[in-house]
Amino acid sequence: MFNIPQDARLVSEGGNAKTGYMRLEAEKCFFEVKWEEVEPKKAKPLSEIVHAFLKKMEKDSKQKIPIRSKRSATVFDHQALFMSLKSNIEERIFFWHCSETLRVIIFRFAFQSMDTTSRAIMKEVLTSFKCHGEESTVWSLFEFTFKAPTSFQLSDRKMMIGRTHLLLLEHKLSPFAERKREILFDYYSMANVQFRDEHQDLDKWFEKRYRKDLRKRYRGSKFQSSTVGKINGHGGIVKKGLGRTGIITRKSSLYNYATWYCEDLNRIYSVTISEHLARPFPLKRRLDQTAFEDFCREFISNLRCH
Ligand SMILES: [Zn+2]
Ligand SMILES: [Zn+2]
Repeated sequence: MFNIPQDARLVSEGGNAKTGYMRLEAEKCFFEVKWEEVEPKKAKPLSEIVHAFLKKMEKDSKQKIPIRSKRSATVFDHQALFMSLKSNIEERIFFWHCSETLRVIIFRFAFQSMDTTSRAIMKEVLTSFKCHGEESTVWSLFEFTFKAPTSFQLSDRKMMIGRTHLLLLEHKLSPFAERKREILFDYYSMANVQFRDEHQDLDKWFEKRYRKDLRKRYRGSKFQSSTVGKINGHGGIVKKGLGRTGIITRKSSLYNYATWYCEDLNRIYSVTISEHLARPFPLKRRLDQTAFEDFCREFISNLRCH
């Protein structure tokens, strides 16, 4: 997680917490972060990673890229290798191993020119960068932020026109039992245009626009009728749900669903938190409903939608 300049936009991203990348662009610069999980035994020295990185750049651009300078640096407690490249743009690249999360991280800055603003941006991004260590991870997508325990990992993310989809997953396997918790987000932009007739009537929106998707993902889920709730200052609806499926391996599920319309950003948000326990018949499945509801309440109270 790190701070970005106000005009920076996420232009592409992929992967998950283990291996992935993210690219942001602003008016006069772009940044790219890549990370990859490596087994400590297979970890290569940074100099080798830098070498491979340069080779790939040269192959892509079909020309030799001279290095202007190379030295060691520190990024968030880690020893890093810093490199400045000589090309038509100003490139500054940092490479390091995060020993806590066992990842190699490459952070690449590119500026039109290296002036005070560029230096300030680079400093701000680097000093705010945290690659490990927080008890809960703060996830932030544009103005939308939320906190989840670090045991949750990003397992799916899709950004489509007008819709963003995120799935966080926590998985625990033990003999004869599989326990899973999921946090599923969907949000829709320009809600008053996409859902002209329903954005003010969330029950109607849920039935007409979302229930089917939810049923596809969570087979056998049954939701109770809505209660009215306040989420980050907005009026919304909240539903509790239950599910039971399977014959040989039986699965019990608990659900907590919330949806609201954020007038500030003209978005409809949906959050579905669920807990699932699967065990072979006839072993008993017992889910702690009170703990689940406490978790959901805490999670939703930490959400910021605008
Ligand atoms: Zn780290
Ligand atoms: Zn809001």
